[in-house]
Amino acid sequence: MSAIRVRFWGVRGSVPCPGPKTVKFGGNTACLELRFGEAGRLVVIDAGTGIRELAAHVMKTDLPRGPLKTQLFLTHTHWDHIMGFPFFIPIFIPTTELEVYGPVTYEDDNLNEILGGMLKYRYWPVRLEELAAKIRYHDLKEGSRDLGDGLWVTSKYLNHPILVLGYRFEYQGKVLCTAYDTEPFRNVFDVAPDAPGYDAEAVKEGEAAAREENEKVSRFFQGADILIHDTQYTHQEYLAGKVGWGHTSFEQAVNAAHRAGVKRLLLFHHDPDRSDEELERLERRIRASVAGHSTLQVFIAREGMQVEV
Ligand SMILES: [Zn+2]
Ligand SMILES: [Zn+2]
Repeated sequence: MSAIRVRFWGVRGSVPCPGPKTVKFGGNTACLELRFGEAGRLVVIDAGTGIRELAAHVMKTDLPRGPLKTQLFLTHTHWDHIMGFPFFIPIFIPTTELEVYGPVTYEDDNLNEILGGMLKYRYWPVRLEELAAKIRYHDLKEGSRDLGDGLWVTSKYLNHPILVLGYRFEYQGKVLCTAYDTEPFRNVFDVAPDAPGYDAEAVKEGEAAAREENEKVSRFFQGADILIHDTQYTHQEYLAGKVGWGHTSFEQAVNAAHRAGVKRLLLFHHDPDRSDEELERLERRIRASVAGHSTLQVFIAREGMQVEV
């Protein structure tokens, strides 16, 4: 019996992209189903459009066993990670108890209002106040939290244009981590020595700060059995104008997994323009690059894929 199981219901970033070019890997945006232990306790990460299919699955498998009591962890509140929320059918069932956790970027903001902002008549026929389920919202920061039954979650800030949390779930000695949407921290003072306002001291400090942040992230997923990592870009694309956009390249993700002694790396948050053919080619290339000199197993996440430890 596995300790942790993950199933991918949406693997895309930015925007849903269904169509003939994305049939194999899927066109829904981020949504992960986690199951813990024999009882199959459910935790959901992100409410991208993949959550609609997850909802149908939950209605069929969980609801017959009794009212649903679950947690939804949002990595952040960009559209691609929340736009499926109104399609999670259990929120319309009065017996459902849902805890929603996630980071908020601005002090005077809260999750309730961010999700509620989508549920206004001008966008959608149902308002947040009309959802029948008992839903509690928790603005989350960095830290560790006991979720009961021996399940722990640790959250860690990553590098993205708004606050994003990576999650580390630990259960029965096994570890699953998420690191998306994110890119490696960079030296923000990294300008050419002949640029106006060049400050050698600031450059040195910036270098040290970036290194320290990257080391913290590395410690965060140290030894993970499963790491689900952002790989929106190839490294060539990343360098050709995507630096600072808040996403990682395939090559950077593989290096990060190596450094942290990760066992299985699941590449995730695919660019909506990335075709099945390209993803298959990238998977072959990346596997060939680690073969023979690493025990790291690398997979490109696709809708419907299940992995367990
Ligand atoms: Zn995203
Ligand atoms: Zn994002």
